[in-house]
Amino acid sequence: MGAKYPAVAIDMGTTTSLVGYLANHTPCILPNDRGNLATPCMVAFKDSQTAWVGELARNLLLSSHCENVVVYPKKYLGTETLFKIQGREYSPAEIMLIILRKLKNLAATYLKVPERALKKAILTVPEYFTDTQKTAVLNSGKLAGFEQIRLVSEPVAAAVAYGYKDALTEERLMVFDLGGGSLDVTLLETSDGCFYVKGFESAPVGGASFDKALADFLGGKFEEMCGVNFTDDPILYRNLMEVTEKTKADLSFVDETEVLFPYMLIGNNTKKNYLNVRINRYQFKRITEPLFDRMRETVLKAFKKSSVVPGWVTRVIISGGASRLPGIKQMLNSMLPSLAKIESRLDPEHAVILGASELTGIIDNHDQFSRLELQNVTSCYFGVEDDDGNMVVVVPKGEVYPCEITKTFTTTEDNKKEILIHVLQAKNPENHALYRSIGHVTVEDIPPARAGEPNIRVTFSLDEYGKLKVIARHSENNKIASLSIKIGEKGERKLKPQRRGTGLRVV
Ligand code: ADP
Ligand code: MG
Repeated sequence: MGAKYPAVAIDMGTTTSLVGYLANHTPCILPNDRGNLATPCMVAFKDSQTAWVGELARNLLLSSHCENVVVYPKKYLGTETLFKIQGREYSPAEIMLIILRKLKNLAATYLKVPERALKKAILTVPEYFTDTQKTAVLNSGKLAGFEQIRLVSEPVAAAVAYGYKDALTEERLMVFDLGGGSLDVTLLETSDGCFYVKGFESAPVGGASFDKALADFLGGKFEEMCGVNFTDDPILYRNLMEVTEKTKADLSFVDETEVLFPYMLIGNNTKKNYLNVRINRYQFKRITEPLFDRMRETVLKAFKKSSVVPGWVTRVIISGGASRLPGIKQMLNSMLPSLAKIESRLDPEHAVILGASELTGIIDNHDQFSRLELQNVTSCYFGVEDDDGNMVVVVPKGEVYPCEITKTFTTTEDNKKEILIHVLQAKNPENHALYRSIGHVTVEDIPPARAGEPNIRVTFSLDEYGKLKVIARHSENNKIASLSIKIGEKGERKLKPQRRGTGLRVV
C-alpha cells in the first residue's frame, strides 16, 4: 500500500452492511472474516466486554441466548428505543457504532493497513433520513475514527453505480430499492454530473415482510403436521424464519423448492424426525399478493409526491437484495412506460456500495470525480416567525450545509424596545399547523425609533453536523442575541408558534 491510505465506503443497511473502496479506479467490495460480502447488522453481547458482530451474532440468535442479540439498529435510529442487554441499555446509535467499528476493522484487515490509517469514509444514508438521523450517522462515523466523512444518499449511490454520474444526457431516474426492512422509491434527475431528487416515498415493506408472510404459511403447514404452534416458542420461530428466508431466496432462482425443518418430533410418528413441505412460486406469489399491492401503492405515491407521471421516467434502477424476488420486474414493467429501461445489470444488493465506493474517489481527489460534489442537504425549512405568525424562511429546504444565511428584520411598531426571534422548523412554510418551535431569543434594548427603521440582522448558520446557530445583531448598538440548537435534539419541542406578535417583520 502506498503512502496514501484509501477512503472506504460503508453501506450500513437495515439488515446487512457492506464495505468497499476504490482499487485502481475500480469499485471493490471487501469480504468479511467469513468471506462474505454482506455482514448481518446484528450484535451479540457475550459479556459486558465482548460484542460479536455479523454472522456470529446471527447464529446466536438461533440459540437459547437470543436475548443477548440486538438486530437491525438502523431501523430505530432517531427514536427513543433502547436495547436492554445484561443490565445495560444501548441506543441504536451505540449499536450502529459497534457495527461500524467492526466494518472498519474488516476493511483495515483486508487492506493490510492499520485501522487508524483509515480516516476518510463515505457513509450511505436513506433518502428519507432526517437531519437528526444523518447527524447520528456522522457522529458514529467520527467516533469510529473517521475524520473526513461524506454522507451520500443511497439512491444517488445506486445511480452512480449505474454510471449516471457521467451521463452526458439528462436522465430521469426511478430508483426502486427493496431492502430488508423497507421499500424506498426515489425519483431523481441527473444532468451534468449532478443529481436532483424530485421526491421519494418509503413504506415498511421489504424482504422481512415476505419472510413473515411465507413463515406464516409454512408454520401453518408444519403445525398441521406436528401440532406445534411455532409462534409460541421464540427460538423455534426464529429457526423457522431462518429456513423461510433461505426458501424465499431460493424461489428467486427456481420455480419450486422443498422446505425441510429437521428434528421435529411428529406425534407418534417415530420414523420421521423432520418436517418437509413443497412450495412453488405460484403459491408464494399468491401468499404475498398484498405486499405487491403495497409496493404498487408506494410507487404511485412517490410519483404523486414528486409531481410527475410514470411516463416521466426514462430509466429504472433496481436495488436492494429483496428486489431479486420473482415478479418485481414484471410489476415495474406494468406500471411504467415501455420506453423506460430497467437497469438490473448489477447485483441489486451491491448497487449502493459499488456507487459509494466509486464516490470515495471524490474524497481521495481523483481528478475524474472532482465534478461531482457531495454535500449535506437540509430536509426542511428553518426560519423566524414574523408578527403575523408566518414563517419567514431563512434556510430553505434542500440547502446545502455547512451554510450561513442572513436576513434583515425590523420592528412593526414605533419605539419597540424588543423583538422576539422565534425560530421555527417546517416541512412546508405555508402550513402553520405543522410549524415546529425549536427555540427563541429576544433582542433587547432597541433604541427608540419609528416602526420599520431599526435594522436587525439575523444570521442562521448550520455546521456540518446540522447544528444550527442563530445570531441576531442590532445594527446601531451592536447588541447581539444568540442561541444554538442541535436540530432534533431531545430538547426539541413541538410547541405551537407564539402567534402573539413577535414584533418583527422581514425587510
Ligand atoms: P438492506 O439494505 O435493507 O439491509 P439488502 O439490500 O441487503 O437490505 O437486502 C436484504 C434483503 O434481501 C433481505 O430481506 C434478504 O432476505 C433479501 N434477499 C437476499 N437475497 C434474496 C433473494 N435471492 N431473493 C429474495 N430476497 C433476497
Ligand atoms: Mg440497502
